[in-house]
Amino acid sequence: MEADLPRPSLHPEVVARLHSRLKELGTISEEPGKLTRRIFSSAMDSVHQRFHEWADAAGLHFSVDALQNMKIRWPSADSALSTTTHKTREVLVIGSHLDTVRNAGRFDGALGVVTALACVEQLQAWGRTLPFDLEVVGFSDEEGLRFQTAYLGSSHYAGLFRPEWLTLRDESGQTLAHLLENRGINPSLVCTRQKAPTGVLGYLEVHIEQGPQLEALGISVGVVSAIAAQTRARLRFTGKSGHAGTTPMTLRRDALCAAAEAILEIEELARSMDGLRATVGQIRVEPGASNVIPEWVVLSLDIRHEDGHRLEEAVKEFKDRIEKQAEARGIQLDWEILQQGPSVPMDPGLQSHLQRAAESRQGRTPILASGAGHDAAVMARVCPVGMLFVRCRDGLSHHPDEWASPPDIEMGVAVVADAILAVANAYPKEPHS
Ligand SMILES: [Zn+2]
Repeated sequence: MEADLPRPSLHPEVVARLHSRLKELGTISEEPGKLTRRIFSSAMDSVHQRFHEWADAAGLHFSVDALQNMKIRWPSADSALSTTTHKTREVLVIGSHLDTVRNAGRFDGALGVVTALACVEQLQAWGRTLPFDLEVVGFSDEEGLRFQTAYLGSSHYAGLFRPEWLTLRDESGQTLAHLLENRGINPSLVCTRQKAPTGVLGYLEVHIEQGPQLEALGISVGVVSAIAAQTRARLRFTGKSGHAGTTPMTLRRDALCAAAEAILEIEELARSMDGLRATVGQIRVEPGASNVIPEWVVLSLDIRHEDGHRLEEAVKEFKDRIEKQAEARGIQLDWEILQQGPSVPMDPGLQSHLQRAAESRQGRTPILASGAGHDAAVMARVCPVGMLFVRCRDGLSHHPDEWASPPDIEMGVAVVADAILAVANAYPKEPHS
């Protein structure tokens, strides 16, 4: 089947290194027999060590910041000149994250970082130079496995790290501040010395789709339109408990029956609204005995849509309908919004560079919304962002069986390398005076 896929013409050594690096990174783990890599783990240090060697071999400058974000710089063609004549060295940033979930697959995150380095090597192999610096980043904490949060790495990179995060504790009770001290870093400087990056032309991220749409279409890569807006709510249904044997059916106020009706209503409504995703993933029933009518039930609700306004309308409609149903059953409903994340649109310019590059390489190219969050959502607060999705088998992610095929991965490299050249072509030429 792979033989039928279009295979872009990349330098054979770039291709060989790309695949062997992905394979190797998939073995660098904190836990034997499975892939788990958290911020400030020795596994993360080992990954950086390998990238350092690869960067040296390609003549690139390697560094790691206080929050363990990795940066590899390819200076612009006129870098010697630009340090003296340009106010700011401008840079295009490309990358993704190097941390993983527990028992992860080897493509989520790592693919984007390895692809970024392969793009630099491919541009070098083509003999191309750029009028701006290119920086490959490997963010240290996107999944948030260590501290049950997300985007610590890219937040620091973007100058958005908050002092209260220093008190976050991991499973063993160690604070983030303590882990920094262990590495010889003064925690207070992490906040005071961070600054928003200057001269960033944009951020590009390649990521596996983590969904089944590209596979269903039979297409290697797709361009992302936006990262979906998300609302998380907690719904509490309060009824009345009673004896399962003596309370007649007509006199019951069963909180679980109301919750069950609500779950199906949520599914029904979400199916009727284009692009909407709604999920009830947790349920708690009290008192939770087989011979007692449930008194109260708490449900989690996760709703997402690419368009923040459509999401808002949907949340309101869900609430109205479920309230009416609960009322008809004599059940009290408390609806609490826990979290609201806005939609993050991709930059139209970067999106069209990716789109044109993908169309010339593979023909028809779909535009997809991302239902999952990514570092690009944080980077969008400081610069234009663009994302490319690579097809993954069965849409599976956060699982050891996660898989993207070599031809699809190579297509991602070729498309992004072409898009970088398109950004360079559109880059304003500055007078060398
Ligand atoms: Zn990821």
